[in-house]
Amino acid sequence: KAAMEKVVWRRCMQMRSQQQAWQESPEGRKMLEFRRGLPAYKEKNALLMAISNNQVVIISGETGCGKTTQIPQFILESEIESVRGVPCSIICTQPRRISAMSVSERVAAERGEKLGETVGYKVRLEGVKGRDTHLLFCTTGILLRRLLADRNLKGVTHVIVDEIHERGMNEDFLLIVLKDLLPRRPELRLILMSATLDAELFSSYFGGAPMIHIPGFTYPVHTHFLENVLEMTGYKLTPYNQIDDYGQEKTWKMNKQAPRKRKSQLASAVEDALKAADFTDFGPETRESLSCWNPDSIGFNLIEYLLCNICEKETPGAVLVFMTGWDDISSLKDKLQAHPILGDTSRVLLLACHGSMASAEQRLIFEEPEDGVRKIVLATNIAETSITINDVVFVIDCGKAKESSYDALNNTPCLLPSWISKVSAQQRRGRAGRVQPGECYHLYPRCVYEAFAEYQLPEILRTPLQSLCLQIKSLKLGSISEFLSRALQSPELLAVQNAIEYLKVIGALDENENLTVLGRYLTMLPMEPKLGKMLILGAIFNCLDPVLTVVAGLSVRDPFLTPMDKKDLAEAAKAQFSCDYSDHLALVRAYEGWKDAERDLAGYEYCWKNFLSAQSMKAIDALRREFYSLLRDTGLVDSTTTTCNSWSYDMHLLRAVICYGLYPGICSVVHNEKSYSLKTMEDGQVLLYSNSVNARDSKIPYPWLVFNEKIKVNSVFLRDSTAVSDSVLLLFGGSISRGDTAGHLKMLGGYLEFFMKPAIAEMYQSLRKELEELIQN
Ligand code: ADP
Ligand code: MG
Repeated sequence: KAAMEKVVWRRCMQMRSQQQAWQESPEGRKMLEFRRGLPAYKEKNALLMAISNNQVVIISGETGCGKTTQIPQFILESEIESVRGVPCSIICTQPRRISAMSVSERVAAERGEKLGETVGYKVRLEGVKGRDTHLLFCTTGILLRRLLADRNLKGVTHVIVDEIHERGMNEDFLLIVLKDLLPRRPELRLILMSATLDAELFSSYFGGAPMIHIPGFTYPVHTHFLENVLEMTGYKLTPYNQIDDYGQEKTWKMNKQAPRKRKSQLASAVEDALKAADFTDFGPETRESLSCWNPDSIGFNLIEYLLCNICEKETPGAVLVFMTGWDDISSLKDKLQAHPILGDTSRVLLLACHGSMASAEQRLIFEEPEDGVRKIVLATNIAETSITINDVVFVIDCGKAKESSYDALNNTPCLLPSWISKVSAQQRRGRAGRVQPGECYHLYPRCVYEAFAEYQLPEILRTPLQSLCLQIKSLKLGSISEFLSRALQSPELLAVQNAIEYLKVIGALDENENLTVLGRYLTMLPMEPKLGKMLILGAIFNCLDPVLTVVAGLSVRDPFLTPMDKKDLAEAAKAQFSCDYSDHLALVRAYEGWKDAERDLAGYEYCWKNFLSAQSMKAIDALRREFYSLLRDTGLVDSTTTTCNSWSYDMHLLRAVICYGLYPGICSVVHNEKSYSLKTMEDGQVLLYSNSVNARDSKIPYPWLVFNEKIKVNSVFLRDSTAVSDSVLLLFGGSISRGDTAGHLKMLGGYLEFFMKPAIAEMYQSLRKELEELIQN
């Protein structure tokens, strides 16, 4: 033990002298000066004191004050200096891969080191970590995985959970697990960090843990709402309640103020969008009805206009544009690149910032552009709190974010652009005032802002819980509902029951809520269970190549683009890939065509010609590789064999594999004289998205469609469907594995009876008997 202590001590001394040397070098001194200027630095001693005296500490402070980069370093430095004989091991979790990577890189740079020395990171399938790494940034998912192997986090001295204000599902889940762990590890320190002031909730969850607030400083930000922005374009927008004396007309009034020529296209776009929107009686209850107003439809033109305007300004400074999602970012980027000013790379550095971008692309975001070049970053809400771009002076905010939500009553998950919360809007605005007074343009009227919810609902209350339930089971945390009842805010019982039921139906859990073999494999694949199921079956049935494409395609934004003004052309382009009534197989064809074109370096033209998103294609390509290596980790495919594709061209088999994954997402095709209608058991009549290949024909010569996603807008719409036959549904709908057969067959029987297909119901009855006998024997 003494020898061991000596080694540790020597190592500490070494680190200390390294740091000293670095801090005396010119760059090191500059860096230290920068760090000392951060608000967090001023609280250093108070923070360290609180952490050493309390098992749990909650720290809040405005974005950019130095929580993520400084606090883990303070702990690291104080541990190195104290020479306790026990090397510290700090884990700091981030909700997203990109922040884990960029933050670790930054911290290593602040310490004058290379990544992988004292500081490292680990995200799924990637990581840099050395023998002497004492501070590890990782995604929340990685820490949860580690807990799977090591329930007590042996050797870990500090766990820092960052960005808890986001209330992501993984973070809420992790907090329950950590809360259980704390009494078993009294010396373990837990630090929670938040960018907003809602610390009380967390404090009371952890028995009154102390809260520390880091006071910050931002410059004033001049705020423009849509009405102000429109005025700049030559329009005046007056809300009805100001003109109510005369008009019964309870809508927005647009007064044209002789728009100048250059802007007329913009002006008419604005007019159309506002006409389509119904702002009448706007109040908190009608927030939902506002979802039909898509700021992006005018947003693109308006953003282009604002960006040109900013580029003409003298004030230097980067522009940060908050967009709804990845697809908007890429289409706006394409549009701007074609613009004479904004596309001119000698004047504008146009970058995108979203969760799935490559790390080289990430680095560019933090770099200062050359003199005379304006940096414009198109970002998702990722840039709201977790990534700080240093030189932002202008912010444009579309007001929406893709939010997963979940309607437990109808058991329908939705991923819809929804209005952000007030807190988010403030965060976005705040990004503009970090280095000097800034400007923020909100592309929605002030009254819309006033009606925003204060906070966003935590993810655990608004998303389906299937993956979470699987994780609870794989971590052997006992009864799912009991476990979830101990969450910071527990999800509805109905939502929990639905998730458990779903997992039973797809064969991941047995009657007693224990993991089945399939369930265990699914826990090894960090993706939605249905996608995992498809992959597993694709591997088993040797048709992996196309299945990888389907699963990757379902994980990215729809690669088939449908620009508003070229809808027909785009749909016709997709129809060429149509392959026997399946959107999923159409994607496989499109991808394979792209792959061929890419080999001849013509991938981009191919996409252009066929209305495909080149970015999505590239993302699919990367994900395919990622999924393949995940499958190899599970042992389901053997890298030395080539047989995993021997059946790849059997369309019937592919259809079956898709059905196996998507069940119970099925709807019945009811033919009438001229066309057909679609019905599901829960929703009754449903519709197809117009870009589905199945929406083009007046007949679908199959009795069922399996679908990936249904989304409730006004009606329920199905996205991406594949037609399947009765026999495929019978054999591949659900999981026919031991233990859950009866339940599964009962459910399938219910479907058949509901849709009144007596002949099939009969076939099913006999099949069921046969299967049950087979399984019993
Ligand atoms: P917080 O976590 O409180 O939001 P951070 O610790 O992430 O703040 O950032 C503190 C400061 O460090 C930021 O204000 C920013 O100026 C700087 N910073 C962070 N990451 C980088 C980076 N990758 N490159 C340059 N500067 C950075
Ligand atoms: Mg941070």
